[in-house]
Parts: sequence; C-alpha cells; structure tokens
Amino acid sequence: MRQAGRHFLQIPGPSAVPDRILQAIGQQTIDHRGPDFAAVGKKALEGMKSIFKTDQNVFIFPSSGTGGWEAALVNTLSPGDKVLMFETGHFAALWSKTARKIGFEPELLEGDWRGGAEPDRIEARLRADTRHEIKAVCVVHNETSTGSVSPIAEVRKAIDAAGHPCLLMVDSISGLASIDFRFDDWGVDVCVSGSQKGLMLPPGLSFNAVSAKALEHAKTTTMPRSYWDWHDMVGPNATGYFPYTPGTNLLYGLNEAIDMLHEEGLDNVFARHARHGAATRAAVQAWGLETLCARQGQESGVLTAVMLPDGHSADAFRATTLKHYDISLGNGLSKVADKVFRIGHLGDFNDLMLMATLSGVEMGLAKTGIPHQSGGAQAAMEYLKTPH
Ligand SMILES: *Cc1c(COP(=O)(O)O)cnc(C)c1O
Repeated sequence: MRQAGRHFLQIPGPSAVPDRILQAIGQQTIDHRGPDFAAVGKKALEGMKSIFKTDQNVFIFPSSGTGGWEAALVNTLSPGDKVLMFETGHFAALWSKTARKIGFEPELLEGDWRGGAEPDRIEARLRADTRHEIKAVCVVHNETSTGSVSPIAEVRKAIDAAGHPCLLMVDSISGLASIDFRFDDWGVDVCVSGSQKGLMLPPGLSFNAVSAKALEHAKTTTMPRSYWDWHDMVGPNATGYFPYTPGTNLLYGLNEAIDMLHEEGLDNVFARHARHGAATRAAVQAWGLETLCARQGQESGVLTAVMLPDGHSADAFRATTLKHYDISLGNGLSKVADKVFRIGHLGDFNDLMLMATLSGVEMGLAKTGIPHQSGGAQAAMEYLKTPH
C-alpha cells in the first residue's frame, strides 16, 4: 500500500541525500579523460583535503567503505604483517577480519562495545612489542555499531609515548564531516572514509587520506595490489584525473557536498551533530532506556544506539515502527543483534527532522509494548529549545 508523506531514513548511513546533491549527480556523465573532467577531479581531491584537514594526500576509489579498508591495508603492509586493532564494536571486528582474510595478522584488543578505544592499553601493548613487529595500529573513530567515539589524538600520543614506529590508521567512515576530525594535527597516517554517511552522498565512493610517511612506506611493502595501488593514483591525480574510470557522477555530488559543508562551516556542522546527539540522549533517558555507549564524553553525535529491556526484540520493534511510521532505524549488529536499535542523526538533518524521528521511536515503543516512560520526545524538545 502507498504510504503518504516522506520516508524517514534514520539509519546511521546511508543518510538521506539532499536535493542539491541529487541534482548535481543527475548531470550528464562526461569523458573522464577529456578536458572538462580535470576541474571536477581537482575540486574533489583538493576539497576532500579540506574535509580531512590535511595538506597531504587524498585518494578516491569507486567502492564502498570496505574497499577503503582494504586499500589502507594492502598499501601499507606486507603479507603476514602484524596489526594491532581495538575492538570498539562490530566495525572494528570486521576490519580485523578483513585484515586476516587478505593475509595479515591482526591482534584485536578486546573491548566491551560501550566506549571508544583505550589509549593506555594500546600503549602497554606497543611497549611490550620491543621488536617492533606491529606495523600499524588501527582504530575506528566513530564506531557505528555502538555510537561511541575513540580519542584519536590520544591514540597518537600513546604510540609516541611507547616510542613505537608503527603507522596509525583510522576508520572515520561514519565520523568524517559529522564530528571533528583532524588528519594532520592528530598525526594520523591513513584515514579511511566513505561517501554515504556524513558526506551525504549515496554509497559508492571511498577515501584514503594518506600521510607523506605512509605513502613513502608504501613503496617498500610487498603486498600484491592493483586496483587499490596508491602509487598508480599519484600521477593522474596531480592533474585531476584517475588511472581508471572514476565514479564521475558521485564526484559531481561530492563537489556539491564539499560546498555545502563549507557554506554551513565545518564547526557548525559538528556542533549541530553534537546537539542532536545530546537531545537524543535526553529522550532515551526520559524513556527510561539506556544507551549502549556508557562512557561519558565519548557519545557520538552521529548516531545513538539504544538498548531494549531484556526479553524485548529490537528487530520486532524496528519492523513495527517501519510499518506504522515509515521510518527506518538501524539494527543491532552481531553481538548486540536484536538487543539494540540505532537512531541515525547525521548528515543533512535538522531539529524538526530529529523531533519527527524521536516521535516515531516513541510511538513505536508504545505500539510494540516495550516498557518505557513517555515524554522522551518532549525532553528532546526541551533540550533543543534551550541554548547550549
Ligand atoms: C559504514 C561503515 C563501514 C562500512 O562501510 P561500507 O560502505 O558498508 O563498506 C565501516 N566502518 C564504519 C565505522 C562504518 O560506519
């Protein structure tokens, strides 16, 4: 049956694509080796440097974020290399599985999925690695399965304090362009990102921001690679071109997204996300429910994962809420499957959209018979009404 009104896509990526970006993407595809393409490619490559906050290198692949993970690994490592990862949640665990599948030796520091990566534990492990067998530390900036943020600058300090030469690789697939990220200031060596979260695009582009050190290092690593090879990108990228067919129409969209982010101002974008995260947590607290992120100060402005009381199915709740209120909420992943649902509040999003989203959640809780107190949406509105 037709549902009137618009669908609310409130999963933590893909986020809803604004009309301006859809229109940009709708332009005719051009010759990616012709003279007009250079301006498109250059703007995208330069523009992404301003989003990553780097003067170093950015590479763009036509792929999902998972491809960006693989690119980061295969360029910087040799077969059998050890990497240290921190289990912030599902995506950190999945990145380590990717590393193992393609022939590296990931060591996953266990986490409880309720906060960000712990720099002191990373430092202790690196200090114990006196022979410097660990070649990289990999951390997820915004863990999309839990709604927790890792302190990336502190992880860098931990590596330096341990006097360890390994690279720092960060997944900011869902953090970039929604929460503060500073590639150069924080001393990150490789940052992986994707198009369909804070960048407000459809899925289909991934990014590697790469430090001069990591790019140089990639010349000596022996992992076989072709599609993902950074060094094949460097030459063509210098004049705005790519070694193979790029995602031309997504690049049109990306250039529009970069303009939109700078028109609003990155700091305002980050403040907007933080405020929507705080308002959402006010709602969760008023409902008498608990967020999965339990560490104060590490709560995400991108999404909020909400735990349901024991014996209640988060997936049944989501199905009912979708059916009655036409809103898609994120599911619980692996360890927390059916135990949590996730509210995405990222991308091209405003106060009224958040109020509609939280109203949908609250009505869904009632419809599904999940024990809660009403007044969560009201609490969020009170938060939004008050200047912060
Ligand atoms: C979405 C996401 C991924 C996976 O990206 P795909 O585009 O689905 O391959 C990886 N890590 C994080 C943190 C994500 O949010």
